[in-house]
Amino acid sequence: MTMPKSESKPKPQQRKLVKEVVAMPKQKPEIRRRNFDEVALGYNEEQAVAEANRCLQCPKPQCVQGCPVEVAIPELVKLIRERKFDKAIKKVKEKNSLPAICGRVCPQEEQCQRNCVIGKAGDPISVGRLERFVADYELARGVNPPSSLHPTGKKVAIIGAGPAGLTCAADLAKLGHEVTIFEALHVGGGVLMYGIPEFRLPKRIVQAEIDYVKRLGVKLQTNTLVGRIFTIRELFTKGFEAVFIGSGAGLPQFLRVPGENLGGIYSANEFLIRVNLMKSYAFPKYDTPIRVGRNVAVIGAGNVAIDSARSALRLGAENVYIVYRRSREEMPARAEEIENAEEEGIIFKLLTNPTRFFGDEHGWVKGMECIHMELGEPDESGRRRPIPVEGSEFVMDVDTVVVAIGRIPNPIIQRTTDDLEVTKWGTIVADEATGKTSIEGVYAGGDIVTGEATVISAMGAGKRAARAIHQLISGKEKTDSFRTK
Ligand code: FAD
Repeated sequence: MTMPKSESKPKPQQRKLVKEVVAMPKQKPEIRRRNFDEVALGYNEEQAVAEANRCLQCPKPQCVQGCPVEVAIPELVKLIRERKFDKAIKKVKEKNSLPAICGRVCPQEEQCQRNCVIGKAGDPISVGRLERFVADYELARGVNPPSSLHPTGKKVAIIGAGPAGLTCAADLAKLGHEVTIFEALHVGGGVLMYGIPEFRLPKRIVQAEIDYVKRLGVKLQTNTLVGRIFTIRELFTKGFEAVFIGSGAGLPQFLRVPGENLGGIYSANEFLIRVNLMKSYAFPKYDTPIRVGRNVAVIGAGNVAIDSARSALRLGAENVYIVYRRSREEMPARAEEIENAEEEGIIFKLLTNPTRFFGDEHGWVKGMECIHMELGEPDESGRRRPIPVEGSEFVMDVDTVVVAIGRIPNPIIQRTTDDLEVTKWGTIVADEATGKTSIEGVYAGGDIVTGEATVISAMGAGKRAARAIHQLISGKEKTDSFRTK
């Protein structure tokens, strides 16, 4: 379709409102439920341009305010509309070094898209899908090397190569600083690599974006557990002028009910690490199988639970249940992923809580006693408190259970760093605007500060800390006793 010339630069009020979002092609549920290939297939050029054309280009855009990493969304959309895809991805990368990841897993519906004006009358502009489109467009054609940087000679250490650490590192490297990330695992990416499954976030995409960060000059030193191999204090003696802690919240929590130690009961962390990082889904190509039974119960209803349930289904389980003590309204997982799970046949047992597990003669789980719940008044989380319905116990036949009820920070760094202020939940106390901790020169952000949150909130924290660190090391402040001890 050719556009009349007068329409090429329309005033906002001239653009016709198209209420319906351009659908994202997906693998069919009956096919994808048994494979680990990516579910959502991404827009092609025509679909991306059509979606971008729905944007009203508001004179006072609200979408940007909803983006923790400040992507210039209206410009991105406009460049897509003009088919200037190379320029569009450059525009995104001015602020976001991990766009192909964000375009896939960010809860845009809670952020930029929530503020979209069209959302009041119809579907908001699908910013995430457009971001993914331009990022994939660039990845398919080869990522352009970043323009040359002016080295400052200042060294910064980052602990953890998750989205918080990678973002902080990339932003500091773009400013010319010499950045080294110390990562405990043998690969970077954090949860992006070991937690979120291949069918939602292919690992080649994560690796490509880590490679981009490395091409900015960031060094990634893997297999290095800070707090064991060396401490934060020792990093300063090695010449680093500032440290950013982005070590996440990787320690699983358990239900603490009888029978939880039986065989066949996994923490979601262990289950997903074995599926993703150890690639048990690709057995026998990878010699690391995982045992999944016929009836699998996943306890919890966040993204981690939904990912575990959909992974179990793909590994061959016949029935997979999400067992959650609240109602659908309170489920913390992304709405899109809950819908995907339903389409694939995951069964939701809501207002239900496990009370104990039963084992067979070999010590493997074979049953789970549950109790029905009802919702009372809101608790401190703002959600209605689940209350057990007396006498409503019943037993479910299960032979595999995955516990996905939350994760807390690993305490190694906190325990080996004197004077680092920590909350009673084990998270590090840090200023929201700068990431400053109780120790001068030490910054923190992401899940280690907020507790389990989102990829984009971790990235936003990394970005704000990079800005503060840049100010600190550019101002040559050297006042702190910790750094000079
Ligand atoms: P992490 O990603 O946890 O990275 C921390 C890194 O630090 C890790 O690589 C770890 O190995 C390393 N580390 C820890 N301690 C040390 C140490 N002492 N020395 C060196 N390295 C260390 N969010 C979304 O927005 N959308 C989603 O769809 C979504 N789905 C999720 C699905 C799953 C299964 C999980 C587990 C989480 C999901 N999240 C999602 C949440 C999101 O992934 C996290 O909020 C985010 O990854 C936090 O980033 P981070 O950088 O703070 O920490």
